[in-house]
Amino acid sequence: MAIPQTMHAAVFYGVGDLRYEQVPVPEVGDDEVLVQVRACGLCQSDIKKLRYPLLDPPRIFGHETSGTIVRVGASVTGWQIGDRVVVLHHIPCFYCAYCLNENYSMCQVYQQVTTTAGFVPSGGGFAEYVKVPGYIVSHGGLIPIPEGVSFEEASFVEPTNCCLKAVKKAQIQPGQWVLITGAGPIGLMFAMLCKHFGARPLVTDLLPSRIERARTLGAEVALDARAPRLKDEILELTGGLGVDVTLLAVPSTQAFFQALDATRKGGKILFFAEFPEQVEIPLNPNVLYRKEIDLMGSYSSSYKVQHLASQLVFERRIDVGALISDAYPLRDLAAAVEQAVRPAEQTCKIVIRP
Ligand SMILES: [Zn+2]
Ligand SMILES: [Zn+2]
Repeated sequence: MAIPQTMHAAVFYGVGDLRYEQVPVPEVGDDEVLVQVRACGLCQSDIKKLRYPLLDPPRIFGHETSGTIVRVGASVTGWQIGDRVVVLHHIPCFYCAYCLNENYSMCQVYQQVTTTAGFVPSGGGFAEYVKVPGYIVSHGGLIPIPEGVSFEEASFVEPTNCCLKAVKKAQIQPGQWVLITGAGPIGLMFAMLCKHFGARPLVTDLLPSRIERARTLGAEVALDARAPRLKDEILELTGGLGVDVTLLAVPSTQAFFQALDATRKGGKILFFAEFPEQVEIPLNPNVLYRKEIDLMGSYSSSYKVQHLASQLVFERRIDVGALISDAYPLRDLAAAVEQAVRPAEQTCKIVIRP
């Protein structure tokens, strides 16, 4: 297949300035691979980077990428033109202090080495082609997509990994009640994972349509986060104890205080959503001391659960396809972001297709 010299990309030139324009197709070095992007999930972290001045422009974001290999560097072995792959955007170094403690997402190499479609490497999935650097190619950053699995489904391997990492970190056990605040794509994926592992997901949200969807996609119970008797209802459901674990899938202070009320003594509250920078939460430390509640956070993915995350998606043990509500062409990325920020009734996961 002839690869053009230039391609379309959605380039971030600053907040509110996303341009669909022609950029050069990345040149591929000896140890690198070029992938034609077929699907790229729109992630909360992309939305944040596009809506707040966090990173210097110009950049091409997008990291939940799947596609077809179209060019292979001379020294690359094991990959061929035409292979369908999931592209991981980060790979850790495996030997720094963080990696040795399995905090892979804190590793400097993990945070710096990434795929690119041009400019400062920033993922690059929101382009027609993305370059995979040699370090990622040679360290397990390309995952073959089995036959029968769509590019859209395969683009969920990365977010599944992030959620799975959090579920593992909170040590969620079969039979445990798990409060999941927020029934967006992440909250729903948490519900699916908890159900898959035999736990009992209890999901809250503000939108009736999302509460309803949570019920159909695996939540044992789904409640309105504003219900005046929310805490009582949760206590009744859990034999007066409260939930074993809360996964905070929305950046809401109120949701955190609901979690403190609803989580049992000795339970865990895990921060998954990223809060706006200026938010501070006043907390009486005795609540943690007397109730022995563990507060924890989970950011990004873990190399350690990569295999399991791929299996869960590829073998359809969780139905990620059911989370897709919209597919936008790449030229309409700005509209896709707008829809994600102001979700319609049925809005859930949005996938971008170049
Ligand atoms: Zn993501
Ligand atoms: Zn490292």
